[in-house]
Amino acid sequence: MQISESKRLFAHAKNFIPGGVNSPVRAFRAVGGEPIFIKKADGAFIHDEDGNAYIELINSWGPMLLGHNSPLIREAVIRAMEDGTSFGAPTAREVEMAELLVRMVPSLEKVRMVNSGTEATMSAIRVARGYTGRDKIIKMEGHYHGHGDSFLIAAGSGAITMGHPDSPGVTLGTAKDTLLAPFNDLNAIESLVEANKGEIAALILEPVAGNMGLTLPQEGYLQGLRDICTREGIVLIFDEVMTGFRLAKGGAQERFGVIPDLTTLGKIIGGGMPVGAYGGKKEIMDFVSPAGPVYQAGTLSGNPIAMAAGLAMLRHLDTHPEVYTRLEAIGEQLSAGIISINSSLGLDYTLNKLGSMYSLFFTASPVTDFESAKKSDTQLFGRYFQSMLKRGVYLAPSQFESLFLSTALTDELIGKILQAHEESMKEIH
Ligand SMILES: *Cc1c(COP(=O)(O)O)cnc(C)c1O
Repeated sequence: MQISESKRLFAHAKNFIPGGVNSPVRAFRAVGGEPIFIKKADGAFIHDEDGNAYIELINSWGPMLLGHNSPLIREAVIRAMEDGTSFGAPTAREVEMAELLVRMVPSLEKVRMVNSGTEATMSAIRVARGYTGRDKIIKMEGHYHGHGDSFLIAAGSGAITMGHPDSPGVTLGTAKDTLLAPFNDLNAIESLVEANKGEIAALILEPVAGNMGLTLPQEGYLQGLRDICTREGIVLIFDEVMTGFRLAKGGAQERFGVIPDLTTLGKIIGGGMPVGAYGGKKEIMDFVSPAGPVYQAGTLSGNPIAMAAGLAMLRHLDTHPEVYTRLEAIGEQLSAGIISINSSLGLDYTLNKLGSMYSLFFTASPVTDFESAKKSDTQLFGRYFQSMLKRGVYLAPSQFESLFLSTALTDELIGKILQAHEESMKEIH
């Protein structure tokens, strides 16, 4: 595999862009080697600047549920472009988008469009704080909610202690309002609530966690959180930027039957364009400006091109339930294949899976939270990643990411992925 053009571009990029990339995980630091520069993508494949093609299992970190360069979205974008790229004034498409979102996602009564998942989560906690008149929030160790200051708080400082910033530039003042709890531990939440009675505005989590590798909520956990939040007047926020429209039409909340007060969305709702949204109960969302006093705005929010792409995607998902049947089948085929290959090789690794998301952890112990995820052998994962890449399969370049499947994966391609998996596992052990 020749990657000289990618190498040249990366070396050149480092002169002008910090670390050579516009988002850190793209730099391949967690797996070694150098990033591959992508020229184009189509269906299940991405093509790099050197002319190599890879079967792809990230799908732009989720949005490409229907595979890359779907004609459905491409044509909607081209049609919208003919009328201009931005107006900075309300449009019919935004109303249609909001109405569709409210109909599809169980918790949404009103919704505001923004430009990224980060903006959605930042805004959601601001509204929760404005609505409750409280300052503190609870987040889970290892859960990712974008790069807003309040969310960049290190894991490991213990359930009852104050958080410490994960990044220079986040002030201690901000960090002290973020309380940390391990995922899947209701007692830790009860202790935090008890120690901070009447001071917690919001509890935010990924209902199905994808940013420490795929980690599922245990039986009764989400309902337990719902009950505590209702009892304590805490705004429960499901960050469904990743899971929304992926795990079901109505996201994890539909799949698990637990309804949060606010929901944040992104990724799939933009069909590949930069889009986010936050919404929920009318009573809370009417605190948002200009209906209410909590300020939040955006020059390009509800952008017509982004709305056209998102609407094309969501209308399709709304009217084609077979997309989800197929995604479930693909997820099952791939994960069952991996488990059976591993066991035939005498390897015992944990595979967490739900619908079209899965993670293979290089540890034999169950992964239920950040502590257990960290038991994975990341060195070995790095070698697995490189070995798969060499065989034309592009995985997420970190052990602590989920894979995102698309409907573009045919049975034949699944067979190729499984063959690459078997060869790679033999190579690295
Ligand atoms: C990707 C992601 C975000 C951040 O979204 P951006 O569009 O990258 O800002 C927030 N929360 C979750 C759960 C995500 O997966």
